[in-house]
Amino acid sequence: MKTFHIEIHGIVQGVGFRPFIYKLAKSLQLYGWILNSESGVHIHFNTNENLLPKLVDKIKKEAPKLSVITSVKVEEVPFVSYSTFEIKESTSKESPSLLITPDFGMCEDCNSELFSEENNRYQYPFITCTNCGPRYSIINSLPYDRETTTMDSFSMCNHCNNEYHDPLNRRYYSQTNSCPNCRIELSYIENGTLQENFTDLDYIVEQWKQGKIISIKGIGGYLITCDASNKETVSRLRTLKGRPTKPFALMYPDVSSIEKDAKLSKIEKRELEKPAAPIVILKVKNSSSIPQNEIAPNLDCLGVMLPYTPLYQLLLSKFNKPIIATSGNLSNSSIIYEDSKAINDLTKLSDGILLNNRDIVIPQDDSVVKFSEKNNQKIIIRRSRGLAPTYINKDIKVNSETILSMGAMLKSTFTLLNKENIYISQYLGNTDHYDAEVNFKNTLSHFKNLFQPNLDMVLVDKHPNYFSSRFGKELAEKQKIPFIEIQHHKAHFLAVLGENNLMNSSEKILGVIWDGTGYGDDGSIWGGEFFTYENKVVKGEAHFDEFQFILGDKMPKEPRISLFSLAFDCCEERFYKDKFTSTELNIYKNLFQKEDNIKCSSIGRLFDGVASLLLNIDKQSFEGEAAMQLESLALRYFKTNDYNKEDSYINGNRIPPNFRQYLLKELTLDISNEVNKDKIAAKFHLTLVHYIELIATKLKIRKLAFSGGVFQNQCLIEILHFWKGKGFELYFHKDLSPNDECISFGQLMYYLKDK
Ligand SMILES: [Zn+2]
Ligand SMILES: [Zn+2]
Repeated sequence: MKTFHIEIHGIVQGVGFRPFIYKLAKSLQLYGWILNSESGVHIHFNTNENLLPKLVDKIKKEAPKLSVITSVKVEEVPFVSYSTFEIKESTSKESPSLLITPDFGMCEDCNSELFSEENNRYQYPFITCTNCGPRYSIINSLPYDRETTTMDSFSMCNHCNNEYHDPLNRRYYSQTNSCPNCRIELSYIENGTLQENFTDLDYIVEQWKQGKIISIKGIGGYLITCDASNKETVSRLRTLKGRPTKPFALMYPDVSSIEKDAKLSKIEKRELEKPAAPIVILKVKNSSSIPQNEIAPNLDCLGVMLPYTPLYQLLLSKFNKPIIATSGNLSNSSIIYEDSKAINDLTKLSDGILLNNRDIVIPQDDSVVKFSEKNNQKIIIRRSRGLAPTYINKDIKVNSETILSMGAMLKSTFTLLNKENIYISQYLGNTDHYDAEVNFKNTLSHFKNLFQPNLDMVLVDKHPNYFSSRFGKELAEKQKIPFIEIQHHKAHFLAVLGENNLMNSSEKILGVIWDGTGYGDDGSIWGGEFFTYENKVVKGEAHFDEFQFILGDKMPKEPRISLFSLAFDCCEERFYKDKFTSTELNIYKNLFQKEDNIKCSSIGRLFDGVASLLLNIDKQSFEGEAAMQLESLALRYFKTNDYNKEDSYINGNRIPPNFRQYLLKELTLDISNEVNKDKIAAKFHLTLVHYIELIATKLKIRKLAFSGGVFQNQCLIEILHFWKGKGFELYFHKDLSPNDECISFGQLMYYLKDK
């Protein structure tokens, strides 16, 4: 008999790991102990050398389903004679190096208890267990224990306490444990009157039925809800939120009710039901009974999720219809998570507010995911609740440096490399807005509290005016550590290489990096880039033909300006003239005469311009709106038509000189000839893929990696996959979004490539 120390790293806290080991020890009559530390889980077992490998194997195989084991270290330690197996108090001596457990949607066991009249938690809106409930959103410090979460202020009743200490109970060591006796309390505000100890959920349902808008505190923050089938209410919410067209997400009572309104594949269903419970974007059915034009104007899809907390589950099962469930915030601000701010701000947007007295430490929006239809490729649109902040990729070689990378601006995130773990924050909003800036700072200081990192280096985007770049440089100066500026699209490229473990590839890889805007090495605006990666060197090979970048922020908001800039030197005026007043036109023309204009190669702006040309979408209220509509036209065309090479605007195997002017001329020619718009949109998408193919062929490269917001476009991805048969290998993002959310991770990968 010897004593062994087993140290397990990964997502091993808040997932029922200690009870699992305890039960295992009891069943095998092993003695020793287990504890949570700042680095993971530590176990001492008395056993003999022959049995040890089997035991370790059993731990790996039978580990709780929400856990992720990244490493197991085993070593013999001096023999101690144990006579029991016990769970010891957690220790925290060092700064933590733990992976953080994300928030989990309600599990099936809790769901069945919730609706079982005999159960003492029957209809209790905060039922949880070791397999479900909030984690990341309620953690104040590490290791994960009740005292380090916002559950600390609730003391357990005898019943709960007994469960908590009973090794055979599924709430053994469940830190979020509570019941109606020792409950988390709801309260409700209407017309300035606060009702404490509120239990009447039927009243909320009644309010929905009457067309009222109710804000509800959930896991990552407040959601604004209302009856999704009530046209007038949905329109009223749009007006109140100052959100003219951006789609609203929906929450459905169950899968079968989703299937009435939207097409649902097996893989989409599985995604909806995962513990992360994200919003999944689905194609709407023609027979759908909801007011599509109020919910997702001009689009043929819906963002849908299932009730991921017991409170939502109870309300939805009573209402039995879908509700709008959109982030509770004022236009362009971050999701509200503090009660005082909710009372202050959400009163303007809702008729009632349903609060509860469990604090949220860190706000998160709902995550958003979609799948390409023809090949089921997962596309992450927003990585937040349930998915952030831990990133696990065992193949990425990290070093022992502590590095903070600051990301970009529109879809900001930061990434921290600390003690060989990679943390990528949830989506933090557009830091061009003050609110998101505050959110960014708060989340970063929360991470500093959690991990107490000793930073060695800060990585920032090259853009001098990004908040994240300025803030990162300030931070570096304050701490007297170096910072490095990394070009935006190179960070994109390294992000997709990192995710696909291609950083050490000896074969040349072509990076196709297409997005809205990013500050280029030459001071111009990039966004239609082709890079190669070979022997750890990123080299610019080609880019989309430049056009003038005018009017700064106005350009992405007004696709007509992109059209004007794309077309003015190559198309007849009639294709854009009517979109402007004569004064505007004169001003813009004069602007173009200036010699020091910034140039851009942005494919995002190309999409905008083409959408303005073809669909007359001249202004957009959110980034990507125009591109999404262009995409849905093309998708509709390809439903009944093949991907014909002849439909590409490029003839043969040569990219026409001045491709931009050529493409615009071809598009306007088709419009003059009254070619069907779906077909023109389809031809445009095919041409872009053809363009990529020709560049790859010319450079004799077979491995292609894609990043940038443009690659949220399902149609492009499907054509690319179709085309894969021709000896190309295609790499896309997997667990991260192709949009600027991946920049902070890419900055880190760019830095690490040379290490
Ligand atoms: Zn549960
Ligand atoms: Zn209780």
